[in-house]
Amino acid sequence: QAAAKAAAVNADSGAPTIFDKIINKEIPSSIVYEDEKVLAFRDISPQAPVHVLVIPKFRDGLTELGKVANHLVLYADARHGEILGQLLYAAKIVAEKEGIADGFRVVINSGASACQSVYHLHLHVLGGRQMNWPPG
Ligand code: ADP
Repeated sequence: QAAAKAAAVNADSGAPTIFDKIINKEIPSSIVYEDEKVLAFRDISPQAPVHVLVIPKFRDGLTELGKVANHLVLYADARHGEILGQLLYAAKIVAEKEGIADGFRVVINSGASACQSVYHLHLHVLGGRQMNWPPG
């Protein structure tokens, strides 16, 4: 827990993250869903039987959005409404593909206080077990 918090505090440099390498297929990932703008892949340290990350792909024409996303957690600009909607819709597609559409959780850890460790916007899609509330 303390280690996760330390990683979160140190992470917001604005630099490209490991997720850029996953998008560019420079390092392997277990992809669940992909389209032009969105990539979903299995979390390397799953916190539930199903734990998939849904991220926006920032390449080519989306570079400007990438700069924003690598610094910020949630977009600060109304222009980003469309991609946010696409991410949420992709989360639903992932839940259906993974057989958890009847009950699942979508989480965004936003900033150091929420223990965000990778500063590339991502939705956690969790399910396959009884989820508890409140989260820790
Ligand atoms: P936290 O690390 O506290 O969960 P985040 O919300 O920033 O904070 O989540 C980053 C997630 O990315 C973590 O769940 C972590 O397991 C996952 N992750 C890190 N590196 C990889 C990787 N190479 N492949 C898949 N998932 C990864």
